[in-house]
Amino acid sequence: MQSFQPPRRILMGPGPSDVSPRVLAALARPTIGHLDPQFQALMEEIKAALARLFNAPDHACVPLPAPGTAGMEAAIMNLLEPGDRAVIAVNGAFGGRMAEMAGRAGAEVVTVDHAWGEPVDPARVEEVLQAAPAKVLAFVHAETSTGARSDAAALCGLARRYGALSIVDCVTSLGGVAVDAAAWDADVIYSGTQKCLSAPPGLAPIALSKAAQAAIAGRKEKVRNWLCDFTLLMSYWGGEGGRTYHHTAPINALYGLHESLVALFEEGHQAVLVRHARMHEALAAGLEAMGLKFLVAEPHRLPQLNAVLVPEGVDEAAVRAAVLEKWDLEIGAGLGPLKGKVWRIGLMGASATPWHVRLCLTALGQALNAQGFAADAKAALAAAEARLP
Ligand code: PLP
Repeated sequence: MQSFQPPRRILMGPGPSDVSPRVLAALARPTIGHLDPQFQALMEEIKAALARLFNAPDHACVPLPAPGTAGMEAAIMNLLEPGDRAVIAVNGAFGGRMAEMAGRAGAEVVTVDHAWGEPVDPARVEEVLQAAPAKVLAFVHAETSTGARSDAAALCGLARRYGALSIVDCVTSLGGVAVDAAAWDADVIYSGTQKCLSAPPGLAPIALSKAAQAAIAGRKEKVRNWLCDFTLLMSYWGGEGGRTYHHTAPINALYGLHESLVALFEEGHQAVLVRHARMHEALAAGLEAMGLKFLVAEPHRLPQLNAVLVPEGVDEAAVRAAVLEKWDLEIGAGLGPLKGKVWRIGLMGASATPWHVRLCLTALGQALNAQGFAADAKAALAAAEARLP
């Protein structure tokens, strides 16, 4: 065996995004014990920073020791018991995953299905909640498979009105568009580290409201997932009165998350959101000047995930392969029904910079021209430049 030396890549797919040198440096700091007093102080800081980022001052916030899917698993397995009714809005791959998990939890699952590329329609969700009470309403705020943003405030409001607990997937939204647990009155929100936080994958920040915690305390049976059992997790992460060993925290990964949070608050949370919006406007202007179109209607587009329709006659996979080979640039493919039909271009965290926008337009223009599609890369760059700071 030899040491693995990864190639230099520029990550503009659906995640992971580029990890900044300062976060990489933090990951390489010496490992200390997870019960070391200094590490425990770091855990407290991370909890407080997550509460600030989610705007969840009254929620319990912790990073789960596994990727975003663990956040989904924790939310669903802790809130749902066999026989509970769960309403799940599905408008892409990740809503579908939530429904699949809720079924495995033994819940009676009712899906509200939407075309991929559409946001969740609160009116259709309301009809289903009105028809019969549900324990949970779950949806994806930022659907990474399509680039559509749903109205989390309206959907969490419906959950509260009809007596359901809300579960909001913010894996792609956190740090890219506004996420506001307090204003939405959301019950369980979870995210991942490899999208707009630009830390490596492998951790899932999660926030649980007091109502969610009370529902967990009142469960009839034990949570069927030991690692994600919130009560056990909080005996480790809760901190008050000393910690009980639950698992060994991924120590260096937490250094990385901590550093990415330090960087985010140094830049300013609001400034980070504005940067994502600006980079998206510039990229979108460039792509449109090239003759490309978006899957999602303008008002519902996520700045950090741009699903771009593949023009007639262009080989989707060949374009991705060309930009990877010539520019070391990774862009994403379509999933499920969108396979071969879209590219997913991420502008997430450290990958949301003017340099990334320029590089992507240049590389894509060249690859499209090689396919016989007349993309005017000069016009695209000029359109983008007019919107770049
Ligand atoms: N939810 C959404 C919206 C996602 O985009 C992803 C990953 O892309 C996940 C959940 C799952 O996260 P992970 O791949 O980190 O397990």
